[in-house]
Amino acid sequence: MAKLTPMMQQYMDIKNKNKDSILFFRLGDFYEMFFDDALLASRELEIALTGRECGQEEKAPMCGVPYHSADSYISKLVKKGYNVAICEQVEDPSQAKGIVKRDVVRIITPGTITDVKVLDEKDNNYLCCVYMNENGCGISYVDISTGDLFTTDLIDNMSSASNLLIDELAKIGPTEIIANEFFYKKKDLVNEIEKRFNIVIKKYEDWAFDTEFARDKIKNQLSVISLDGFGLKNRNFAVSSTGALIEYLNETQKTTLDHINNISTYRISNFMVIDINTRRNLELTETMRDKSKRGSLLWVLDKTSTAMGGRLLKKWIQEPLLKLQTITNRLESVETLVNNIFLMDEIKELLKKVYDIERLMGRIAYGNCNARDLIALKGSISIIPELKALLSDPDYPSLNKLANEMDTLEDVHDLIEDSILEDPPLAVKEGGIIKTDYNEDLKALREGATKGKEWLSNLQSTERKRTGIKSLKVGFNKVFGYYLEVTKSNMSLVPDDYIRKQTLANSERYITPELKEMESKILGSEEKMTALEYSIFLEIRNKIKSEIKRIQKTSKIISTIDVLNSLAEVAYKNNYIKPTMKEEGTIDIIGGRHPVVEKMLNDELFVPNDTHLDDNKNRISIITGPNMAGKSTYMRQVALITLMSQIGSFVPAEEANIGIVDKIFTRVGASDNLAHGQSTFMVEMSEVANILNNGTKNSLIILDEIGRGTSTYDGLSIAWSVVEYISEKSKIGAKTLFATHYHELTELEGKIDGVINYKIHVQEKGKDIIFLRKIKRGGADKSYGIEVARLAGVPNPVIDRAKEILAELEKRDINKSEILQECSITKEDELNSKVITPNAYKPDQNEEIKEIDNSEKIEEKSSEFQLDMFNVKEKQVLDKLKNIDMMNVTPLDAINILYELVNKSRDI
Ligand code: ATP
Repeated sequence: MAKLTPMMQQYMDIKNKNKDSILFFRLGDFYEMFFDDALLASRELEIALTGRECGQEEKAPMCGVPYHSADSYISKLVKKGYNVAICEQVEDPSQAKGIVKRDVVRIITPGTITDVKVLDEKDNNYLCCVYMNENGCGISYVDISTGDLFTTDLIDNMSSASNLLIDELAKIGPTEIIANEFFYKKKDLVNEIEKRFNIVIKKYEDWAFDTEFARDKIKNQLSVISLDGFGLKNRNFAVSSTGALIEYLNETQKTTLDHINNISTYRISNFMVIDINTRRNLELTETMRDKSKRGSLLWVLDKTSTAMGGRLLKKWIQEPLLKLQTITNRLESVETLVNNIFLMDEIKELLKKVYDIERLMGRIAYGNCNARDLIALKGSISIIPELKALLSDPDYPSLNKLANEMDTLEDVHDLIEDSILEDPPLAVKEGGIIKTDYNEDLKALREGATKGKEWLSNLQSTERKRTGIKSLKVGFNKVFGYYLEVTKSNMSLVPDDYIRKQTLANSERYITPELKEMESKILGSEEKMTALEYSIFLEIRNKIKSEIKRIQKTSKIISTIDVLNSLAEVAYKNNYIKPTMKEEGTIDIIGGRHPVVEKMLNDELFVPNDTHLDDNKNRISIITGPNMAGKSTYMRQVALITLMSQIGSFVPAEEANIGIVDKIFTRVGASDNLAHGQSTFMVEMSEVANILNNGTKNSLIILDEIGRGTSTYDGLSIAWSVVEYISEKSKIGAKTLFATHYHELTELEGKIDGVINYKIHVQEKGKDIIFLRKIKRGGADKSYGIEVARLAGVPNPVIDRAKEILAELEKRDINKSEILQECSITKEDELNSKVITPNAYKPDQNEEIKEIDNSEKIEEKSSEFQLDMFNVKEKQVLDKLKNIDMMNVTPLDAINILYELVNKSRDI
């Protein structure tokens, strides 16, 4: 085989070291791709495929993108999941012996994008690293555009580690995951994660996870000699995943990343547990249907003025707190702002001037920030003294702590103010960015250049006078430099000292020794000036880089103020109130509203509802009511109000007393997971299993129908026993809201401790139903499903036929009430029929004694009922017997009926 050309050989050598990436090989003003990379990139980027001589018989397939617009092409490829290796010339071509040296200067992967044009400004872009073995799991993730690095571990409960990992990943939302081999070999888990999060998990070198190596790697990154202050003691899983993550960053970014200088180590148990389904169901940060922010809780709460605040608010929503003191602190700060709306407005106005300092610091660390970034930084910093003064007012003690921690960064501000011109160009190597007075050398050069330019502008008039050529002009071009131009008609007047340089159609161009001398002074000083300006710019950038920690700390405080101010604005505008928080216990809400649904309603007013859940008699609410009545909305509003309280937000209610919950679970609606081999019912039951296995007495459980995905009796039996299980304090005993169309479940009130019935009221008006949206005590007995189907536009013949079938079925149905009556207790019936609001209901002592007295009877009767209820065939035989018209039956009919009944009874 013929030898490759030297350049192609260089390409192949570099490509062989970067097989996992598409190699962008810099040639002049283009990045070129060759061979398979070219075939792939031309297809993915829809750009022309050409060929290039490479020393072989056939040309090498080639495609390319211009250097100046490469970012958008790179982003396109990276977003599709490819890595892009950027290969540049790494030596000065004028110094090169032979072919100019080239090397990869950075590998861009989905988790390491820093291009702000591609990143969503109010969203983090996390690269995640997972380390797992049979004893535990470490998870670390970093946003390299901001420098935020987090780590945690799962060691307590390895049997459910996979689920916990998926839940944690659902919170993080990584765009790239790297992992060790042990984890990578767990094919089922890896497949599930890849499908759920639409990403590819990459296996990373096992040696990078070695604890000692990882420890050194972290120390090196943080420039510390001990990790004691970073919460990593005895947390080797977290150490391993973090160390490997940093190694991967070093390998791909090939530069120091000074903005990654801290690790936030946390425990999953520091925050409210929200599993992946609950996160989706409650639509915390995006809607279930189209994954948009509009329609989510974040959408309602986000009135932040800065991108940093927007990202932090999202994090707060994703991580509701458990510590009473921290929640109370946040709530008090929000309260101060709500009570001082002028302060709120003033803060907002100031924050509007703040740029994304975190990402700006990222660019400073990467060395790709420009002078405009520095002006933006100066503008952002300039508001700090005023902000600090506002928050330091002794009238606002809850805000004083934030003010005290704020660094006004005057030195950084003054450095930029003194050195960088107000409206600098984007390019950093072409001058025009440094203020003249900042540097003596620059001043001298600028003065020299100005003098030179003055001399030149005078030259035209002095030469015109000297030569008598009125049309003589002084000009400049890149090839010949400065010249004197004389038209052909004036050639006779040209003096002897003019040296001809260029002939044009109608004129001649000349130079003089004097002009050349001045030219070299002017051009030389311009060249020197741009070089000097660039080196001053780098110096300033490095000075700012050395203050990175201080700047980051203050930008975090600014983000926190932005979030608190946003929560205050939303509370003020939407009429929210401050919830009263306590360690645990009741959830008491008066006039609660759904924060998102109330915003979405156009003409209707949202109907507020009360909630009373406690650890005793009011633990489980069975909520019945017609379709469309508002059951789901009601239950979600309780979950959201609780969650909002725990992030430190005011809540949509008239009054709220919230005992902190450790976990919120929701099981909502039907969705299948066919891609993962799970049917609708299987998904439903896995969710139920997760709740039953992990719920505690301090959890809040929302069950929006269970058991609907299977036959009625299977479903009802499951729903029934789930309620029994949750209700048992020794098993779970969690506060629970359970909406159901199994009206049979309303019979559980009085039979199971802690179960209370509620129904959502509707009014029938002729053929129509009016949704009153009001929740009341008691159970409903009708679902109005057919009426709702009619409202939805199901054709009339179908509706009419459905009504006929329903009437027939109801006739045939077992007369449950008879059976139930046998095992019911008068007091409970009385309560069911009463329409009282949850807060109005206060069980009296006698009632409790009665229940204890009857408990045995209840248990016995309820199991009897369960058996009877399912004995459909027996009931059919009895019904048939009851309906025989003895007076009119013929002997032959009688024999036939008897034959049928005997056959049926044999089936029982
Ligand atoms: P289904 O049993 O069919 O699932 P549902 O009882 O769960 O129905 P929801 O989905 O909660 O009913 O509510 C239906 C619609 O009613 C909501 O989308 C909302 O527009 C409206 N709605 C619900 N609650 C209220 C309320 N309190 N005030 C005003 N409108 C409400």
